[in-house]
Amino acid sequence: MSASTGTLYIVSAPSGAGKTSLVKALLDAQPQVRVSVSHTTRGIRPGEVDGVNYHFVSREEFLERLERDEFLEHAEVFGNLYGTSQRWLEQTLDEGYDLILEIDWQGAQQVRRLMPQARSIFILPPTQEALRQRLTNRGQDSDEVIDGRMREAVSEMTHYVEYDYLIINDDFTHALGDLQAIFRANRLLQGTQQQRFAGLLEQLLA
Ligand code: 5GP
Repeated sequence: MSASTGTLYIVSAPSGAGKTSLVKALLDAQPQVRVSVSHTTRGIRPGEVDGVNYHFVSREEFLERLERDEFLEHAEVFGNLYGTSQRWLEQTLDEGYDLILEIDWQGAQQVRRLMPQARSIFILPPTQEALRQRLTNRGQDSDEVIDGRMREAVSEMTHYVEYDYLIINDDFTHALGDLQAIFRANRLLQGTQQQRFAGLLEQLLA
């Protein structure tokens, strides 16, 4: 790809805010953007594919990988472990792709410390009712589980202040436009453009 290094993006949201659908739509429209596939110890959900949504591993395997320092960051969410593979991340950025990490606020804090140049985006639902509705629509969990997830969601949302960008996912198309605008604006930053158009700039200033 290009000679320049890609930008790392962190995208966080409470469960049910529509983060995964937005990121998927962004990827479909922007071939220069990749998403990191995390390792997790949680069980596979209907419709999920191992190696696509997550690398589903046992707790034992996860802890072995952790021991081998394979993760850039990791966190326990809802009693399950999640982690981002460091090697794939570095390779992908070096190839010039922009890379998205769909991770929670704990992972976001770790990544910001290690890679302060990362841009972070928080996605919020339009109302608490809409969030509950979306969690219910999944139809896979009991009321008790949904109540628990609502409490977790509110707790996750208190961290929005730590992020560079805030998107309210009221209307999907609008929210996707917001997300695309962030990626586009970042690619237009002078430093990035300077690397991309080094030849042109040299010619213009000759
Ligand atoms: P879910 O199990 O619903 O897919 O994800 C639960 C939470 O774990 C979400 O907030 C999601 O962003 C977060 N998550 C997924 N992968 C990772 C990861 O690799 N690291 C961290 N820290 N959080 C993750």
